[in-house]
Amino acid sequence: MTNNKFLKYKSTRGEAEEIFFSDVIFEGLASDGGLYLPEYWPKIDQSIIDSFSNMSYQEIAFHIFKPFVDGSISDNKIKELIDDSYKVFTDKNITPVNKISNNEYLLELFYGPTYAFKDIAMQFIGRLMGYYLDMDNKKINILGATSGDTGSAAIYGFESIQSSNVFILHPHNLISPTQRKFMTTIDSDNVINIAVKGNFDDCQSIIKEIFSDYDYKKSNNLGAINSINWARIMCQITYYFYSASRIENSENIVYSVPTGNFGDILAGYISKKMGLKFKKLNIATNENNILDIALKSGVHTIKDVVSTSSPSIDIQVSSNFERLIYDSCKDSSYVKEIMTNLKKEGTFTLTDECRSYISKYFTSDSASNNEVNQTISEYYSKYNITLDPHTAVGVVCGKKQSLSQDILVTLSTAHPAKFKETVSGIISDDSFVTEKVRMLENQEERMIIANNDVEEIKNIINGRIR
Ligand SMILES: *Cc1c(COP(=O)(O)O)cnc(C)c1O
Repeated sequence: MTNNKFLKYKSTRGEAEEIFFSDVIFEGLASDGGLYLPEYWPKIDQSIIDSFSNMSYQEIAFHIFKPFVDGSISDNKIKELIDDSYKVFTDKNITPVNKISNNEYLLELFYGPTYAFKDIAMQFIGRLMGYYLDMDNKKINILGATSGDTGSAAIYGFESIQSSNVFILHPHNLISPTQRKFMTTIDSDNVINIAVKGNFDDCQSIIKEIFSDYDYKKSNNLGAINSINWARIMCQITYYFYSASRIENSENIVYSVPTGNFGDILAGYISKKMGLKFKKLNIATNENNILDIALKSGVHTIKDVVSTSSPSIDIQVSSNFERLIYDSCKDSSYVKEIMTNLKKEGTFTLTDECRSYISKYFTSDSASNNEVNQTISEYYSKYNITLDPHTAVGVVCGKKQSLSQDILVTLSTAHPAKFKETVSGIISDDSFVTEKVRMLENQEERMIIANNDVEEIKNIINGRIR
């Protein structure tokens, strides 16, 4: 597409060609190894933001997506895709806010088909890609790595998209059995689950390496849906606007976000750039707290991944953090330099300017397994609410980083039933487990177990492309 009036997307490392929305949604890493960002942040008029309190989730989503899509799809088509995507959600408000006490809320993001927030983006992206592919009569091979929830969301998002195959890598034995069953029990020819003998970061490096082989990627029509995919971030912006429109004195909100790859919380940062007024974003990490340390000391150093009860955020390298670093300094050669350092030496140090910019928007903390367990018990006995372990990480860290006059809104990123093995051990009551999850128990599973080896994975892919 060559129309100059459209919003362009450029790489954080400054060397890849600039592209438009209809291309960026199919991309993972840019050809220079960077991540795509729009060339500027579109602003939403305050009068429109004020009117969000009278709009449905779907209507708000339209206002958020429109400036990013920027003319490449008709308004009616965007609305149709949005309405169709969110029909499958089981709560009519899509992402309801649940008031726990005067100044504490949960933003519940788990009413999609796979019980975690990733459905909110993936249901839309499957349909969006399907729309473009059908128009051009093309096919796509979706390739993604998952720490547990992206994979199932992608599988459910693409299962019915005839123009796609979906290859999902997950770390063998390192995700919860229920997470795995959400993925492996789907009986569709276009869904291929690969269990890699390694951790999530290994899966992610395999994907990065395959995507960096430009010829392989082109000749096999590979498409990305990992959290570095721009469209996912875009979809997640909506619920910050939605929740703020449903909460009084929203300028005092501290959003506490259980953070892994930094996609969800980056969407919150972008909402602020687009004009939403709230106080702060809190990066909530578990014992894998490299980002928390980076914010507090400026030093970002890779450590070994520890397995915790919140596996979806057992991540060391949070890919989307690169987008924030770029936005804090707008200096692609600096980004390139520190990312090269990270790859070579396993570490980088943020400049003081970059750190002080980030701390205007973000706080951070980390939660131990013990704190998570205690919080799950406490909320169960005090409020009769069953938190999943990720949400509990958000609550623990949010409490540490908010003041009594703040309004703490924790993003409840998963339904507890998806982590029933952990949660039922803590509260000894399994009434929160839904019928859908109980049914997964006895279904047949399909997956290929593979070594942590790029060539082996490529061979599997080559053998299964239809
Ligand atoms: C993916 C995931 C997260 C982390 O989100 P990021 O965008 O990767 O930071 C948190 N909680 C749950 C349940 C998830 O599935």
